[in-house]
Amino acid sequence: MTTGLEAAIEEAARRIASSRYVVALVGAGLSAESGVPTFRGPEGLWTKHGEPDLRDYERFVEDPKRWWEMRQERASRFAELAQALESAVPNAGHLALRDLEEMGQLQHIITQNIDNLHQMAGSQAITEIHGNRTKMRCVLCNRRWPVEGFVIDELPPKCPECRSGIVKGDTVMFGEPIPRDALDECINQSRMCDCMLLIGTSAVVYPAAQFPIDVKSSGGVLIEVNPNETPLTSLCEVVLRAPAGEALTGVVEWLRQR
Ligand code: NAD
Ligand code: ZN
Repeated sequence: MTTGLEAAIEEAARRIASSRYVVALVGAGLSAESGVPTFRGPEGLWTKHGEPDLRDYERFVEDPKRWWEMRQERASRFAELAQALESAVPNAGHLALRDLEEMGQLQHIITQNIDNLHQMAGSQAITEIHGNRTKMRCVLCNRRWPVEGFVIDELPPKCPECRSGIVKGDTVMFGEPIPRDALDECINQSRMCDCMLLIGTSAVVYPAAQFPIDVKSSGGVLIEVNPNETPLTSLCEVVLRAPAGEALTGVVEWLRQR
């Protein structure tokens, strides 16, 4: 395993350049430098305030009308996160991922983030495993619409396309299954991948944590970018123990200068 930041950046860049299909698996840590707090990790919201209600989706399924009516109250519980999300802009880490894609060195991003910052940075190939806060989704047919302009004239709102599903925010709630289309795309991407970057993810939330294990077991290379150790560290060929902005910018610079 290569550590020591300079050497690790060079090793990571070499591995990326010699791989056929590179996928980044991204977690909340990438957006930490945009001022969005993470849940886990030493500075995480759960570490500071305790774990939230994990029955969120169950409550939605039991009584979607009431769930919609209660949304103001829920929003206030997540006020710190909501405020940070509202004003967040992409940081050097997001921009570096966009650059890697433009350079042909990164084929896909699987992100657990809901913050829309990859799109704002200009990345194209993105699968959002936990949804996107700026979208709505039908729980039946998985069609999605921008939140802005989505007209709600009854509670709970019905899907304007399939007319039978209920519409909720696209963000995947605690206890909610990952939307099938996103999950299938992740599995597909992981199969093609021979080098996976694990960026700012504690890699304990399934199914996301499974993808790197699958890549590894089919002979692929894992590169971790995280200031802290994770349960997947020991599986990684290269570990960049630094904030994502610094580490990924270093990788892009190295690849540009070679
Ligand atoms: P997580 O499991 O991905 O953990 C955060 C990880 O980021 C930790 O391992 C921490 O060491 C690392 N980290 C902290 N600062 C970093 C930095 N500057 N650079 C690189 N890594 C850094 O994520 P979580 O916080 O446990 O959240 C779980 C889920 O909640 C996410 O997968 C997501 O769906 C949602 N969430 C999303 C956002 C967002 O959209 N920005 C924010 C919080 C939570
Ligand atoms: Zn529908």
